[in-house]
Amino acid sequence: MLNIVLFGPPGSGKGTQSEKIIDKYGLTHFSTGDMLRAELAAETELGLQAKSIMEKGELVPDEIIIGMIRNKISEESDARGFIFDGFPRTVAQAGALDSLLDELGTKIDVMLGLEVERQELIDRLLKRGQEQGRADDNLETIENRIKVYEDQTSPVMGYYESQGKYHGVNGVGSIDDIFGGLTGIIEAL
Ligand code: ADP
Repeated sequence: MLNIVLFGPPGSGKGTQSEKIIDKYGLTHFSTGDMLRAELAAETELGLQAKSIMEKGELVPDEIIIGMIRNKISEESDARGFIFDGFPRTVAQAGALDSLLDELGTKIDVMLGLEVERQELIDRLLKRGQEQGRADDNLETIENRIKVYEDQTSPVMGYYESQGKYHGVNGVGSIDDIFGGLTGIIEAL
């Protein structure tokens, strides 16, 4: 199996690059943001719990996220590999993911980090807010999402770095050039 964590701040292009990686390597996609938005759209109890947290740009509690991933992973026993996008977002989530994968007899091979500076992130997310109307793409929430990323999520990079699994790529440039950087790392594994 090939198991990838795609990492980076909000607006760094994880969704765009995941699609391309999935097309090329046939991986199963886990986007906790997409999963939560689906729960919200279906007005499930979990969706209702998550709504106000997401609108503020805060993190949904680890137990909820880990439970969601555990359910979905258990349905995917014959997958060729997984790509995790927007997850793990805390060190506790990273530890839980390692245990889940261990139970399946597999592990994370690599964390690919998209590196983009703050003002570029804000510009991209404001533009996406205008084009797609995502409720959390407004300036106040964007600034909080970046702060939450810096405080709670960036330590996850150290978690994988200490295992020698972190590889960063410049996330500014053409979509194809960035994709080329990511596939270069995957091919060299
Ligand atoms: P982005 O990275 O563009 O901010 P996502 O679509 O990954 O957006 O996530 C949107 C929101 O969903 C987050 O701001 C957070 O509230 C919630 N969320 C998504 N994934 C997680 C996670 N792994 N842990 C906690 N909250 C999450």
